[in-house]
Amino acid sequence: MSADFGLIGLAVMGQNLIMNVADHGFNAVVYNRTTSKVDEFLAGEAKGKSIEGAHSIKEFVDKLRRPRKLIILVKAGKPVDYIINDLLPLLDKGDIIIDGGNSHFPDTNRRCEELKEKGIHFVGSGVSGGEDGARWGPSLMPGGDEAAWPAIKSIFQSVAAKSDGEPCCDWVGPAGAGHFVKMVHNGIEYGDMQLICEVYDILKRVGKFEDKEIGEIFGKWNKGVLDSFLIEITTDILKKNDKDGVPLVEKILDTAGQKGTGKWSAVNALDLGQPVTLIGEAVFSRCLSAIKPERTRASKILPGPEIPDGAIKDKQQFIDDLEQALYASKIISYAQGFMLIREAGKEYGWKLNNPAIALMWRGGCIIRSAFLGEITNAYRQDPNLENLLFHGFFTQAVTKAQAGWRRVLGTATTYGVPTPALATALAFYDGYRSARLPANLLQAQRDYFGAHTFQVLPECANADFPAGQDI
Ligand code: NAP
Repeated sequence: MSADFGLIGLAVMGQNLIMNVADHGFNAVVYNRTTSKVDEFLAGEAKGKSIEGAHSIKEFVDKLRRPRKLIILVKAGKPVDYIINDLLPLLDKGDIIIDGGNSHFPDTNRRCEELKEKGIHFVGSGVSGGEDGARWGPSLMPGGDEAAWPAIKSIFQSVAAKSDGEPCCDWVGPAGAGHFVKMVHNGIEYGDMQLICEVYDILKRVGKFEDKEIGEIFGKWNKGVLDSFLIEITTDILKKNDKDGVPLVEKILDTAGQKGTGKWSAVNALDLGQPVTLIGEAVFSRCLSAIKPERTRASKILPGPEIPDGAIKDKQQFIDDLEQALYASKIISYAQGFMLIREAGKEYGWKLNNPAIALMWRGGCIIRSAFLGEITNAYRQDPNLENLLFHGFFTQAVTKAQAGWRRVLGTATTYGVPTPALATALAFYDGYRSARLPANLLQAQRDYFGAHTFQVLPECANADFPAGQDI
């Protein structure tokens, strides 16, 4: 019994995370279903580190100091349950199991409950930042049985990324709250990526810029309000040429994959009745990209406007407008993401820590950005802020961006360039700031064909037309 911390699952995330744990002075033990990977890892990358191996779950458990603390980093879904079932007969009350994979939060809710009954503390933790994050400082979003937090806090906060000296890791909330917040993070990541791709498409198709030039534009934006990991990597990608001098990105098939966390966010938004439209459009955009053969046939049948050379007269204005459109749409996406988190807190009875969530996303993870520092400040000033858009910083930012944002969408529509995420962001903004929407007519239609009834505006209610009554 010598190890402070255990890891099950020596794929890319597990290997990198446990090296990070060892670098911070903790003794570790590792196990993997295919045990040859344990030997390869110990003889290779882990050589000389305070990491020992185990060739069976029993040997692994026996090597952990009590109360045992172990993280599972394997393929999400059934494998997590199989491993928990193998562990259970070997663990003692008070031991801690952490699931660091991309598990769906209802699974984490269930596992928390089942394990609590057995006296085991279960934690579902979002881990973001890919392999580099895991190795050098991920964003960690733990939630579940809070009794586990004091025992794992120092390990988690030591290995996590730091933002202005603060760890990008704090306790998120009960049950599946950690995995819920990671799911929303991934949904926002889908949205950020889609917005960047739409702006790239407009610059290319309407502005007729070369990839390298677009890379330079993104490079400049990365020094301003859009400073973020995703803009930084996009800059690098667009400047990269293949051996023949052709930009690498031009050779990549335009069919996007997805693993499901964006879809989970969109489905959850529908379940909770929240207008998280940007994530939804980002998921649908990947679906549209995936039907490439059908799109190719449609491109030969369905006409659209021609885009002439010189469509854009003032290129600098066009670039500045795009920067503002991207920034404003991103603000809307985060506002929507926090609306979903707020509603989940109410619906599932979780007390969620908004400033800590923003700080956890500030560094280490894929959506890390300077802008998340502003969100952290906003929620620190008012943890119960009803909507991010109500905070002065963001109200001013979208107000300033509005004219350029509208010009961009006008241009894209005129020339037939698809902008589902940019457009839904503006549509949400206009809907959200409308005290009156045409849902009055909608309610009348529903009542006309389905006798669904409707309510009357309080100021119009009278004895003949009473509020709240079926008419
Ligand atoms: P992965 O490819 O998702 O999973 C491979 C690991 O799962 C291997 O250790 C494999 O063991 C194990 N495994 C699969 N089925 C198993 C079973 N039935 N019983 C026991 N072990 C089983 O690995 P990963 O990419 O490192 O990701 C780990 C987790 O982190 C996943 O939930 C993933 O979604 C999440 N995540 C990944 C990233 C990323 O950038 N890759 C980022 C954030 C979160 P064998 O070697 O024996 O096959």
